[in-house]
Amino acid sequence: LDADEFRRQGRLVVDFIADYYARIDEYPVRPAVAPGFLARQLPETAPARPEPDALAAALRDVRDLILPGVTHWQSPRHFAHFAATASNVGALGEALAAGLNINPFTWAASPAATELEVVVTDWLGKALHLPESLLFSGGGGGTLLGTSCEAMLCTIVAARDRKLAEVGEERMGDLVVYCSDQTHFSFQKAARIAGIRRGNCREIPTSMEAGFTLSPKALAAAVRADEAAGRVPLFLCATVGTTPTAAVDPVRELCAAVAGRGVWVHVDAAYAGAASVCPELRHAVAGVERVDSFSTNPHKWLLANMDCCALWVRRPAALTAALGTDHDVILKDPSAQAAQEGGAVVDYKDWQVALSRRFRALKLWLVLRCHGVEGLRGLVRAHVRMAAAFEAMVRTDARFEVPVPRQFALVCFRLRAAAVLVVGEKRARDGDDEVVTAGNELNRRLLEAVNATGRVYMSSAVVGGTYILRCAIGNSLTEERHVREAWSVVQEQATAILAAARR
Ligand code: PLP
Repeated sequence: LDADEFRRQGRLVVDFIADYYARIDEYPVRPAVAPGFLARQLPETAPARPEPDALAAALRDVRDLILPGVTHWQSPRHFAHFAATASNVGALGEALAAGLNINPFTWAASPAATELEVVVTDWLGKALHLPESLLFSGGGGGTLLGTSCEAMLCTIVAARDRKLAEVGEERMGDLVVYCSDQTHFSFQKAARIAGIRRGNCREIPTSMEAGFTLSPKALAAAVRADEAAGRVPLFLCATVGTTPTAAVDPVRELCAAVAGRGVWVHVDAAYAGAASVCPELRHAVAGVERVDSFSTNPHKWLLANMDCCALWVRRPAALTAALGTDHDVILKDPSAQAAQEGGAVVDYKDWQVALSRRFRALKLWLVLRCHGVEGLRGLVRAHVRMAAAFEAMVRTDARFEVPVPRQFALVCFRLRAAAVLVVGEKRARDGDDEVVTAGNELNRRLLEAVNATGRVYMSSAVVGGTYILRCAIGNSLTEERHVREAWSVVQEQATAILAAARR
């Protein structure tokens, strides 16, 4: 790395990003491109020799070829999925970590990086009002992984090994894990990777009436049935803020339902964990002091650019017993051995699947310092306020309904079945299969039309057989005017679709 050249190139990149954000609102949120559009425009092989002024040329290609083909996740009019909130310091923290390019797999491999992660996960845990028992200061501890899926995998593996040590390795095929039919699919994937039999993942059904939350009663019944059949209940994944509707599983009651059975309770709060920075939203995690582990993605709603998933565990020893490795002499640093063996330092390689790891703590530390906990509260509150405004607008239009209560900054909405009845000029009752199918199809077409405008981008889910549109507010650049525009686009497209359906 040549320092002067790095400075010159760095300015090009920073200017490029700044220009992008200055114009981001001008791009259609989602590109209208066909598969293969980019590959056709690029050479088939890499250049054999460096191109002249390669970085500048490549940046031109990013502008002319790549940007027209990306979905602009940071657009203030991106309301799909859950947001990936970005910030200046989040981006610069990433740049700083990439620039330093260190690999803190053990304390000795980079003491300050490891210690910063210890400090910053405790900082964040305190900001989210997590119980002491999940923090280093209370005997637990946190780490920064890439994704929630990794957090699930690591905790299932920890729970599995702890349980097998108790009941015997031969019981592996009897281990059962529990979730709801709203739990993110990554849980089942993690369970499969951890060796849980496919048939031993209990996906407990939820209902619209119960707001798609996991019922403690149903959970207790499932656990009892498994025990009666000689199986071994292992792990419960409760979700605070499910992906389809941001439903909140009742953590306290779920913990009570499995209490005394040695079931590891994990809370997946990938999206909504961030809301706990606000005292008025903290009720969503009531009971969290009883769980074994908790994870949330600061890259979803806390201004830490991709990727950043914070995982806290009550007993780090369970994690390190399952994931720790102790036989690689190359990793042994004689000067740190005493501290390692005495447990005075954290070796994060033993908290995760891989050996190598990124220095994620740096950007999270910058975010917390530059925005402060109050700044994060302001961000969450602004998004929740805008979502409430969007919900209010939906409720004023009789053609629409809000089938489940708004949670946090996610509004789920749809054209009413009654609108379908008008279209079909039929006398059918709500709930008739024909009406449900027609309603779903109409709402599917509505979303397609809304997104085809390029003016906004929303996503959908099917819950309890009902197709819903999702408007998830969470981008740093989103303002009330964007939310109003989004609603206008939905209304315009609904009017056009209903008119076309009547013809
Ligand atoms: N859990 C929930 C509730 C989610 O909404 C998501 C993704 O949106 C995930 C888990 C998966 O997160 P990741 O991509 O970090 O694995």
